[in-house]
Order: sequence, then structure tokens, then C-alpha cells
Amino acid sequence: MTERIMGNMTKICTKCSEEKTADAFYKNKNATDGLYSYCKQCHKKCVVTWCNNHKEKHRSYVMTWAENNKEKQRSYSAKSYRKKVALLKLRNE
Ligand SMILES: [Zn+2]
Repeated sequence: MTERIMGNMTKICTKCSEEKTADAFYKNKNATDGLYSYCKQCHKKCVVTWCNNHKEKHRSYVMTWAENNKEKQRSYSAKSYRKKVALLKLRNE
């Protein structure tokens, strides 16, 4: 009986407000109903947005680091730099 109810369970996504079947949601052990509150579609969108935001943050961090470590970067030996470039070129081919 309980299993049958579980199988036909629907849930309203808190993101898009659409009622969807349980298999449209990712499982979440920590949730009371065992499912995430966002549907799979919204979950994907969420991850993409997070990635984009994170990318932006990461880039600004790298830029700041490069700005603060100009001297360090200059002191890297030209030899190891050339080696790295050669490796990168190989990988891109
Ligand atoms: Zn949704």
C-alpha cells in the first residue's frame, strides 16, 4: 500500500511550481520525503547558474593573484615555461 502511494507520488517543485512525479526529482537522503525540493530540470539550471557565478569568482581571484604576484611569475625560469607551453601545444594537437 505505502509502496503504491510512493510510486504514484507527485511533488510540487519549489522552483518552477510545477507538479511532477517523484522520478522527476533527484533523491536526497537528508530530505523528509527523500527527494530534493527542486525538480531535475530546475536542478540542472541551478547547477549551471552556480557554475557561471563560480567561474566569475574564480577568474577574478586568479586575476588578483596574478596582479599581486607579478614578481613571482617573472622569476619563473624561462626553461620551465617553455616546457609547459610545449606540453600544452602537444595536448591541443
Ligand atoms: Zn522545477
